Amino acid sequence: MEECSALGTVTARSPIVETSPMGAAQRRFANAACVLDSEYDPLALLSGLKRMEREMGRRPGQRWGDRVIDLDIILWSGGRLDARDLTIPHREFRTRDFVLSPAVAIAPNWRDPVTGHTIRQLAVRL
Ligand code: ADP
Ligand code: MG
Repeated sequence: MEECSALGTVTARSPIVETSPMGAAQRRFANAACVLDSEYDPLALLSGLKRMEREMGRRPGQRWGDRVIDLDIILWSGGRLDARDLTIPHREFRTRDFVLSPAVAIAPNWRDPVTGHTIRQLAVRL
């Protein structure tokens, strides 16, 4: 287990899964998921993740192909959350293989509160 920039403790981390370029992007992407045990509420965690993105060199408004890092919150222990700048579960995660394949490696039995399916079930359906 390791500290994640003071945002919490990483209790599980997936292998890195490479994906081919999509859309206009020319580069390949490296995708991974982790389980983070955090004292922060989701909005505070999102601010921390955005700060990490900036520290790693991401600039606001960068398009998919150009950005160096994208840190998203997929699920959390509190079920659904709908705020102006934050929706959990992440709106797109059910249709993104590059999210589900890393996630299934570390949290196959986590349940999506919206559809009632586990991550494993969502990954198989895709
Ligand atoms: P995406 O991650 O969807 O490819 P961005 O990283 O540019 O696109 O995110 C745009 C905005 O999405 C963020 O500024 C954030 O406020 C918002 N957002 C909504 N839900 C989430 C979530 N679950 N995880 C991360 N960001 C989210
Ligand atoms: Mg993002």
